[in-house]
Amino acid sequence: MEKENNNNNNKRLSLIEYSSSLALFASGRSQDINTKVGACLVNLNNKRILSTSYNGVAPNMDYPEEFNKDRDYKGKMILHAENNLFRDCLIPAGADLMVCLTISPCEACAKVMCGFGIKEVYYIQEYPREKEFAFKKLFDFYNVKYRGLTNEEIGNMLHFTYGNLVTLKNLVKL
Ligand SMILES: [Zn+2]
Repeated sequence: MEKENNNNNNKRLSLIEYSSSLALFASGRSQDINTKVGACLVNLNNKRILSTSYNGVAPNMDYPEEFNKDRDYKGKMILHAENNLFRDCLIPAGADLMVCLTISPCEACAKVMCGFGIKEVYYIQEYPREKEFAFKKLFDFYNVKYRGLTNEEIGNMLHFTYGNLVTLKNLVKL
């Protein structure tokens, strides 16, 4: 059957674009009302997704009301997406790992990723504060390959999302 978004069918997302798209969708589950962050962990050896995560509070805990009133307090207490990324997944011994993030990591999360021996890190957006660039020194020191996504990669992600949204829109006849 002919589909309306036929132009998308001969294209394919790269592994980085696919994993970054999953991180972006995961950010939609974030409990943080100010900064929604998503992450995706990939086994590079077999190109399989091991985990996705977002920022929020610990499992089975309600989002505290005080967080909405005091942003600094929330900032100190909330668990970052990278904290949650490694919690519920089994990482095969010796696996080469890649992490795709919606936003570049803070220093603490960069250390967590270095500790897990992550090989490559990609992010859609760079955190817009100079003091948060400490991750670059850590990644250089621990030989982690990293970069922000190119405009072309973001364009490819958008292209697919748009195509899928058109399909979805047609399904519900909006
Ligand atoms: Zn962090």
